[in-house]
Amino acid sequence: MIETTNIKAYGTAAAEAPLNPMDIQRRIPTAHDVQIEIQYCGVCHSDLHTAKNEWRGTIYPCVPGHEIVGKIIRVGDHVSKFKVGDIVGVGCIVDSCRECQYCQEGLEQYCEPGMTGTYNSPDKYLDAPTFGGYSESVVVDENYVLRIPENLDLAATAPLLCAGITTFSPLRHWNVGPGQKVGIVGIGGLGHMGIKIAKAMAAHVIAFTTSESKFAEAKRLGADEVVLSKDEEQMGAYTGKLNFILDAVSAEHDINAYLNLLRVDGSLALVGAPENPLPVAAFSLIMGRKSFAGSMIGGIAETQEMLDFCGEHNIVADIEMIDIQEINEAYERLLKGDVKYRFVIDMASIREKS
Ligand code: NAP
Ligand code: ZN
Ligand code: ZN
Repeated sequence: MIETTNIKAYGTAAAEAPLNPMDIQRRIPTAHDVQIEIQYCGVCHSDLHTAKNEWRGTIYPCVPGHEIVGKIIRVGDHVSKFKVGDIVGVGCIVDSCRECQYCQEGLEQYCEPGMTGTYNSPDKYLDAPTFGGYSESVVVDENYVLRIPENLDLAATAPLLCAGITTFSPLRHWNVGPGQKVGIVGIGGLGHMGIKIAKAMAAHVIAFTTSESKFAEAKRLGADEVVLSKDEEQMGAYTGKLNFILDAVSAEHDINAYLNLLRVDGSLALVGAPENPLPVAAFSLIMGRKSFAGSMIGGIAETQEMLDFCGEHNIVADIEMIDIQEINEAYERLLKGDVKYRFVIDMASIREKS
């Protein structure tokens, strides 16, 4: 029998319902678990896609949140990597099979039987789905917990746990670096991290945005050039010029317009996950032996590598802090692309105001 405690959370009971306060159960830490008091939790567009069942398969009630930072308040008897008081992070993965080829290679996100997501996955311990970081605390096996570099602002570090690793991993995998022209499409939570990280990897970064209000700011974030993607003339100037494109757009858009910007043998990796399929014209790929690929978050070791890289380069997200009570309004604004560039929930608000 697993012992549990009741804690406060914010979640939703149905696709059309708003997020509301609710109580959930967390297990008492078992031998290898740590319990983390959540201080900040980022708001990823995936939280919104899942809360609204846009990818189908949402199990209700659903408590989103997978950009978690906080303080360890309790450890299990056999925890060796962390102690009470440590400041740590939890991203999108809280467990995996640990035995398959991918887990062995540090690619837990592609675990064969399936990783355990921080929310909306079957819980290995309780007869319930996993519940995410829009809550007071979380209990996680120490092997899926990350160390946070001390020099980084904690609230602004939370988004690294998803937006940071989701952009870092493909930029590394496709060997982005000096002498390369890299496009970042969609300057939201992921995209703005993509600009910062690609720049720190010493690439020449070109930001593509539909928002005129982000035009000047993309340069402040580190882009060498910025393109208003609605403007065909501006887009045309980059035909055949880019080595790699990272597409972080959350909604339907014309992918062929970007494939046309790649050089011969160039690749476009999707990290954005729109609700509906994106049509790809065969000739967009055939002409120039191009690759159209995808990438999902990153493994645990790589997430630590990303955090250490961001610590060295002083990279955090640009954030707008909210209380948990403002989450429904934040979702409305996220849908309109009206956030610069990541909402982060101050979780003290769930303890003090709910
Ligand atoms: P976000 O902050 O909402 O940013 C998305 C950006 O896409 C917007 O800021 C906007 O950028 C652009 N955009 C939105 N609607 C558009 C439209 N109709 N046409 C063209 N561009 C549009 O979202 P996010 O949190 O960065 O997440 C982005 C996507 O990545 C989501 O689908 C999310 O679920 C997915 N995701 C995937 C992974 C993974 O592992 N692959 C991990 C996390 C998130 P501009 O204003 O600059 O045009
Ligand atoms: Zn996410
Ligand atoms: Zn596995």
